[in-house]
Amino acid sequence: MIAILRINHRSARDKRISTHIGLVARAFLAEKIIYSGEHDESLIDSVNKIKNEWGGKFSAEYSKDYKKTITEYKNKGFKIAHLTMYGLPLESRINEIKKLKNLLIIVGGEKVPRDVYEKADYNLSITAQPHSEVSALAITLDRIAGGKELSHDFKDAKKRIKPNALGKTFY
Ligand code: SAM
Repeated sequence: MIAILRINHRSARDKRISTHIGLVARAFLAEKIIYSGEHDESLIDSVNKIKNEWGGKFSAEYSKDYKKTITEYKNKGFKIAHLTMYGLPLESRINEIKKLKNLLIIVGGEKVPRDVYEKADYNLSITAQPHSEVSALAITLDRIAGGKELSHDFKDAKKRIKPNALGKTFY
């Protein structure tokens, strides 16, 4: 199982980007997103609403204390991967990571506390360039799934798109 922990969410400034982290997590086949930082129930509701319409085994929840969440997941046998431009290249660890049964992926906000680096089993970079938590997460999940997410069908979806060269069709 792959779970995502988004730390240091700020309701006013990060709403859109934190929502996108949740949408990428679901579409790219993670099973859970945990938001930490400021409590923002509307963010959690909007990500869960997407899941209810578009299907998938996914849920969004809030954690008051990201340190406790990391410890809890470690105790459940999860390995912890923290995405940071300062880390080792993702491609140097991907074969090892693909074999893990349970993985918690941490994505940061503006400033990431040192203890996150220290608690992680892997500090991983997706290029050594600054970009975005959304792109870093998407590339990581894509490499783990080996591209399978691109054609994944969410069986319980109430809403699906029929691909079109032009126009929009739902079914
Ligand atoms: N200086 C921050 C850092 O510690 O990487 C960059 C903050 S960036 C606005 C927010 C988040 O995007 C980071 O915490 C990290 O999770 C992700 N991120 C940005 N660039 C990345 C990269 N090249 N590799 C991996 N993650 C990245």
